Amino acid sequence: MDDPILRAARLAARHFDEIRHLPVTGPARLPDLRQHLASAWDFAAPRDPAALIDDLAAMLRRGSVHVTHPRYFGLFNPSVIRSSIGAATLAAAFNPQTAAWTHGPAAYAIEQHVLAFLARRIGWEPQDVSSHFCSGGQEANTTAVVVALTHAFPQIRTDGVRALSGDPVLYVSSEAHHSFEKAAHVAGLGRRAVRRIACDADLRMDPAALLAAVRDDRAAGRLPFLAAATAGATSSGVVDPIAEIAAVCANESIWFHCDAAWGGGALLSPALRPHLAGIDRADSVTWDAHKWLQAPLGSGMFFTRHRDAPRAAFATDSAYMPLARGGIDDPFSVSHQWSRRAAGIAVFAAVAELGATGLAAMIDHMAAMGRALRTKLAAAGWRVCVETPLPVVCFTHDAIDAGRTTTSDIARAVNASAAAWISPTELADGRRVVRACITSHRTVETDLDALVAALAKALDA
Ligand SMILES: *Cc1c(COP(=O)(O)O)cnc(C)c1O
Repeated sequence: MDDPILRAARLAARHFDEIRHLPVTGPARLPDLRQHLASAWDFAAPRDPAALIDDLAAMLRRGSVHVTHPRYFGLFNPSVIRSSIGAATLAAAFNPQTAAWTHGPAAYAIEQHVLAFLARRIGWEPQDVSSHFCSGGQEANTTAVVVALTHAFPQIRTDGVRALSGDPVLYVSSEAHHSFEKAAHVAGLGRRAVRRIACDADLRMDPAALLAAVRDDRAAGRLPFLAAATAGATSSGVVDPIAEIAAVCANESIWFHCDAAWGGGALLSPALRPHLAGIDRADSVTWDAHKWLQAPLGSGMFFTRHRDAPRAAFATDSAYMPLARGGIDDPFSVSHQWSRRAAGIAVFAAVAELGATGLAAMIDHMAAMGRALRTKLAAAGWRVCVETPLPVVCFTHDAIDAGRTTTSDIARAVNASAAAWISPTELADGRRVVRACITSHRTVETDLDALVAALAKALDA
């Protein structure tokens, strides 16, 4: 009987060697998969661990959109750096408890070491910063809302928002990620507390409109407490005017959050960094290692330069886990999760494998592929609609304007061909576009050519 860990490792490695030659979307549909599970896995009796690993791999291979494929041009899902998969396996095997650092000093030190490197890229001195790994951008943005709220209104900790004299409100652009609505809901503010500020013609938040909205809300007795700039919007890839939004927040004394869930990767490239100028003036930052940094999913990160603010929001004393008095805060007392996977071990591996120069080269390569895709699309008669230095390309075609096809039909035809994967989206100004993002570090020019060819076929279909 083969060892299931070795078996899984071999299958994972083989998958990586073969990925480029697989269809981007596996052939199995949900009903097929359910039927297989119902007949093969009734859980009645124990089974051979190696055989079950084989079947898991077969199901995943046949029943996935392969987001690690070089011709996956979809949402910001990473292709995953090889050593980070090995590191994630070790994290699963050692299973260090990350709630209390004394239980896992190695995991704690490894995570803090890589967070310190990334905090410096934001422009902060790590000793002045509180940072932690979390499940993703959604949790990091929720953390920002809860931490900022507690910082502005300390009485919330015990009495909740009902103790306030008015309704707390927060501001994001009309292009911002919808995690803020969920965050406002979870924090007990209600989704209406999220004010969506209009964008300019380039889909960047208009700082004057932000200022006007803050003043209107104050005049009406509401309590503005946070504004978030997006560095790399999900649909458009656009970067908000970070420094100008920082200035409005500073003048109005509200918390400035920067959602760099995907775009944070640009901080690792000397060439792209200037596009995020002003991010060091943020009070807090969301940055997902499981997007542009190519670490496995489940590695979000939250950073704040208010060292003590997360403790004010999350510290909880109990007989079974007493709070550290002085010295090092336990992760459970400065973050939302309690027990959690040591996600940072895989991030450490991704960063360590490439190093600062390798990371910069990877980010620059992906940005260059974005520029090349713009050029190739224009040459093939498509119209690129949004300007951004980051590798998200939104485009359309005269045939779409003329009503002969739609953005959804184009994306559906490309995805059904399994030659590539793209998505339709709608921009904040209502324009419907086709969207292709360079999200795999393995994407090269021939992959772009394959996408352009698949688009031409979709147009003729
Ligand atoms: C992806 C994304 C999020 C949500 O992050 P998850 O990791 O999917 O939870 C938030 N904001 C932006 C700008 C994003 O791109």
